[in-house]
Amino acid sequence: MEATAGIQAIKEMISEDTPVEVVEGDGDNTVISRIQNELGVKLKKKLDRNHCVKNIVKHLYELRNSKDAKISNQVIQHLSKCVKYIFAKNHGNVVGMKENLQALVPHQFGDHANCFPRFCGYKRTPNQTYAHRSLPYKAALKDPNLKEKLEQIFEPVIANAALYSDLGSSQACEHANRAVSLRAPKHLHYGDSESLDFRVKATAACINEGRKYLPEVDELFFLCWFCSSFVVGYPYFGILKII
Ligand SMILES: [Zn+2]
Repeated sequence: MEATAGIQAIKEMISEDTPVEVVEGDGDNTVISRIQNELGVKLKKKLDRNHCVKNIVKHLYELRNSKDAKISNQVIQHLSKCVKYIFAKNHGNVVGMKENLQALVPHQFGDHANCFPRFCGYKRTPNQTYAHRSLPYKAALKDPNLKEKLEQIFEPVIANAALYSDLGSSQACEHANRAVSLRAPKHLHYGDSESLDFRVKATAACINEGRKYLPEVDELFFLCWFCSSFVVGYPYFGILKII
């Protein structure tokens, strides 16, 4: 369904001469490949930062649940924070991203050979005892089995460092989905209701124009009322109902 909507949106934009060069998504290649096959348009793909972090953290929780290695929630949360930090700090820097990702796992185990002072406190102050403040007992991790499993998880991430150095954000899109769901909650069935169109369009008007869309609709209604035409005024009731 997402792919169909995506293709329709791209088609409409192309027909209106709006240039489309990049598609930001959650890592699902269906939309990009269908656009290429059906419309013959080659677009650049950008991954969404939040989805990328979520996918990596998902593997960490899977490792914890599989019991192949012992990893606590505290360690998972720390690694998740580190990944977010690495993605944010190395945006647009492929070499920096690769260096930082390569050093991530060894650093947690006290091996700072791949670390650089810009992200490693041990390298910044080599003469002081370094404490891993966010790890259990403020000490480096020790389990060699856990290290091996973590390296397996981060191997594809390191290989895709170039892709991760140019991440996009689908936050605006997620915000729009959330805004629609406030006016047409999923647990209520509006699919068969005439009000659904007004609910979605009122959300679009609110996002595009801001709250001032309300007095504008109000004005439109009274104009129609004076003309004795309620055709355009009808949406007013639809919008009014949902406020
Ligand atoms: Zn280090």
